Amino acid sequence: MTASEIRQQFLDFFASKGHQIVPSAPIVVKNDPTLLFTNAGMNQFKDYFLGNKAPAHSRVADTQKCLRVSGKHNDLEEVGIDTYHHTMFEMLGNWSFGDYFKQEAIAWSWELLTKVYKIPADRLYVTFFEGDPKENLPRDEEAYTCWKQHIAEDRILPGNKKDNFWEMGDTGPCGPCSEIHVDCRPDAERQQQDGRSLVNADHPQVIEIWNNVFMQFNRLKDGSLAPLPARHVDTGMGLERLVRVLQGKTSNYDTDLFMGTIHATEKLTGFTYGGTDSKPDVAFRVIADHLRAISFTIADGQLPSNTGAGYVIRRILRRAVRYYYTFLDAKKPLLHELVPVLAQQFAHVFPELQQQADFVKKVVFEEEHNFLRTLESGIRRIEDVMAAAGPQTRTIDGKTAFELYDTYGFPLDLTYLIAHEKGFTVDEKGFDAEMQQQKNRSRAATELDTGDWTVLHDTPANIFIGYELLENTTQVTKYRKI
Ligand code: ATP
Ligand code: MG
Ligand code: MG
Ligand code: MG
Repeated sequence: MTASEIRQQFLDFFASKGHQIVPSAPIVVKNDPTLLFTNAGMNQFKDYFLGNKAPAHSRVADTQKCLRVSGKHNDLEEVGIDTYHHTMFEMLGNWSFGDYFKQEAIAWSWELLTKVYKIPADRLYVTFFEGDPKENLPRDEEAYTCWKQHIAEDRILPGNKKDNFWEMGDTGPCGPCSEIHVDCRPDAERQQQDGRSLVNADHPQVIEIWNNVFMQFNRLKDGSLAPLPARHVDTGMGLERLVRVLQGKTSNYDTDLFMGTIHATEKLTGFTYGGTDSKPDVAFRVIADHLRAISFTIADGQLPSNTGAGYVIRRILRRAVRYYYTFLDAKKPLLHELVPVLAQQFAHVFPELQQQADFVKKVVFEEEHNFLRTLESGIRRIEDVMAAAGPQTRTIDGKTAFELYDTYGFPLDLTYLIAHEKGFTVDEKGFDAEMQQQKNRSRAATELDTGDWTVLHDTPANIFIGYELLENTTQVTKYRKI
């Protein structure tokens, strides 16, 4: 089965259960100061859960473009190293806004996985919330009872608050969740070891594929829980992981979702992808992954830049460039050549990329071209610093990290990555201090320059000069005294 068929079967299944199929929201979030990028299917429905808006349909399903590279969900470091965390991924989801609840949600997820997709029941595990007396959170007896109707009891595992209780924030809708994991270990290995306590953290081939969240409480300001007047279901299943399971692969990258661009990268570089942990193979995976994040985000209107969401994209792009430059021996812009391959592949699902493929390609080319001008000297600089460091100094000092950033365009996480490969760390505090000093210098310069234009008031006042978005979830309002 192809990834397209698998995606379509999910949507068809929930359509047959009375769900309205809706389009993915853009990956770039423009009107929510608490979030830069969509990181879960539920983001676009937040107002329904908060009761600020009434939904047009009480049951919906979709595939949502998600990006998890900053803030609470940051999977960037795992990408290419493990085989199932991506920066950009599709989250398949079904929702009930005050309509069906645990009984149906659990029965349908079981039906879809075992009857439609035909995953053997003895390869599945599920979890439910075990409760947390300290926090006064009750055990999710209801989910446990529902699961018992479908799956053997020893495959229903209790989970703690961290994994099995979902909260939107300090206050607001929250509730227990129930995750589904697939055991993809080879039969021989499974027989050898009783897998009772295995969930995804224990083995790279036992992976979480689906999360079912049951919103049933409202967390009040005093910390207490009140029942929600309308109870909701919010689920998310990673398409790439599902496809990997159904196509019988041991890595998401071996599926048809990624092999097209991996083959194209082979042609462009002359290297062959072997699916191992070697540096060139990691590079293949990082490129195949980062290309998607960059392309879909630009197509949704976020250009790379030096601040906020734009800088997140620039960082990812530069990270990909460094991977092909160093490990695939590619010294000329390469990513932009892959944009049409990706656009073609997703033309029927996310046509916005195909429609703007030329533009996206041009933007990516410019970015690569610019960074490649300083990359070589930057790499030489950091390597010289590491070579000169005594055995006691395994840290890139703040001044050097800032120089790499300022002169060679190295985002801090790239410096960290290169340093880390050689067993070094980076003095991030020192970097921040250097950055602050530079900001002070440029502010002083700006104030000097615009001195003639400053309007003087009798009493000092604060004027609002804009938002500064720090990574993902934090919003800082900046004021300047005039
Ligand atoms: P994990 O524990 O593997 O990091 P998660 O618990 O953070 O996953 P959820 O927030 O529950 O993930 O998201 C719902 C589903 O989305 C997951 O069950 C998984 O299938 C998928 N998913 C989450 N993060 C990623 C990612 N970075 N890349 C690909 N799929 C993902
Ligand atoms: Mg995660
Ligand atoms: Mg998890
Ligand atoms: Mg989860």
